[in-house]
Amino acid sequence: MTSLTEDPPIPVLTIDGPTASGKGTVARAVASALGFHLLDSGAIYRAFALAALNRRTNTNEIRQLEEIAKALSLEFRGESVWLDGMDATDSIRAETVGMMASKLSAIPEVRAALLTRQRDFAQAPGLVADGRDMGTIVFPDAALKIFLTTPSEVRAERRHGQLQKHSAQTKPKTLPNSAAKRLIDKGNSAIITDSLESFASVLEKIQQRDAQDKNRAIAPLKPAQDAIVIDNAAHGPKQTIDAVLALWKLRSN
Ligand code: C5P
Repeated sequence: MTSLTEDPPIPVLTIDGPTASGKGTVARAVASALGFHLLDSGAIYRAFALAALNRRTNTNEIRQLEEIAKALSLEFRGESVWLDGMDATDSIRAETVGMMASKLSAIPEVRAALLTRQRDFAQAPGLVADGRDMGTIVFPDAALKIFLTTPSEVRAERRHGQLQKHSAQTKPKTLPNSAAKRLIDKGNSAIITDSLESFASVLEKIQQRDAQDKNRAIAPLKPAQDAIVIDNAAHGPKQTIDAVLALWKLRSN
């Protein structure tokens, strides 16, 4: 029964999609335009994966992984992500960490342990949440659900371009993955970066991560039944952002 004193629901807009589909850029811009909070749920899974790597936890130690997820010391400070009191903003973006996040996020106990932390982001005046299961599991009652699709080749081109740009800007700090792994082993998580890879290698990793995320038994990457699917292969981010804002306006009216 609905009570007359019940607070109105917090408006939530979800944006799901595969890796490098542009959902992060779109979510950030839409949240900013609407004055809403932003949940980058991938950053939570990545931070958890980095915490597990730093603790050298075996991927089949389910109880230990569950404990790490429950006790995750994670803080979002503006655009920065702090893990265990250290700035991990760049480290969590490394492909090694993304891959580990994809592997560990298939564990039901880990997903359950991180669920409330994600739902707590739904605060007034509203939330834009991006990830893989925002519309299906985390916010099934969201007012608007968007699912971005883009062929893996297009996403690989974008990611490869970003890596090239990043490598030119941060040359002295860029380390090959093997060196990054050694640093993780030493517990130094603050300076992990990706090395410049070939397009073929970027494409292969994207397709591998897509397969992992789509085929897992729990919360697989798929559009919610009531999601609006936008193929943004031929669009720049601005067109997608405008389309999402126009859809939100329609829904709100
Ligand atoms: O979105 P991002 O690439 O940062 O996410 C990293 C990984 O975390 C994904 O490949 C996916 O396996 C996992 N993830 C998830 N559920 C979410 C967000 C991310 O399983 N809602």
